Amino acid sequence: MIPLKDIKFVLLDMDGTLLDKHFDDYFWEHLVPEKYSERYNIAFDTTKKRLLSKYKAHEGTLNWTDIDFWSEELSIDIYALKEQIRHLIEMHPHVEDFLEMLKADNKKVYMVTNAHYKVLDIKLKQTEMGKYFDKCVSSSEIGYPKEMIEFWQKTEKLLKFDKEETLFIDDTAEVIKTAKAFGIKYLLLRTMANSKREDRPINDFPVLKDFKDLLPLF
Ligand SMILES: [Mg+2]
Repeated sequence: MIPLKDIKFVLLDMDGTLLDKHFDDYFWEHLVPEKYSERYNIAFDTTKKRLLSKYKAHEGTLNWTDIDFWSEELSIDIYALKEQIRHLIEMHPHVEDFLEMLKADNKKVYMVTNAHYKVLDIKLKQTEMGKYFDKCVSSSEIGYPKEMIEFWQKTEKLLKFDKEETLFIDDTAEVIKTAKAFGIKYLLLRTMANSKREDRPINDFPVLKDFKDLLPLF
């Protein structure tokens, strides 16, 4: 159990944690390969395979989330494409209840995301959840992805949170691992990041399957 009363600061990842990662998976694994295969007249399956290995090479780096990088790399306007399907962006169940509870409890609530600031903008506009956050921090502004300890050192200085009184929730195990090494006391790995996909079993960290598990019992 997470002792919410002992917690002053709540740091939350966006994609997969608050928002259904189905949007991003569909975008990168289906829509982008589809556009690319149409443009260059290459079979969809071949394109998809090539693109997935291209993505993999940049995983855990700032390039991976930099839509300007991918627009140039693939000669596709990634921002415009995301805008086109932004109506598909969806919050996970009970996220708003959880955020409202944090506000009512006077917690300091921060979003810490690897998402590029332009994508962050689209998603905040679409979901209107910006109002729940004291500040949103994007790794593109910090200069390091969350997988690197430097991200946490710089973010701690910026947000002035106390590691001993902080809860951080993220759906990427690598990120939780770094946050743990940095010393954040309360950590939860969000599972079911993509509501339409089964997770591999996880044993390394305490997990959160649904935000309703953090709500007080009625
Ligand atoms: Mg995430």
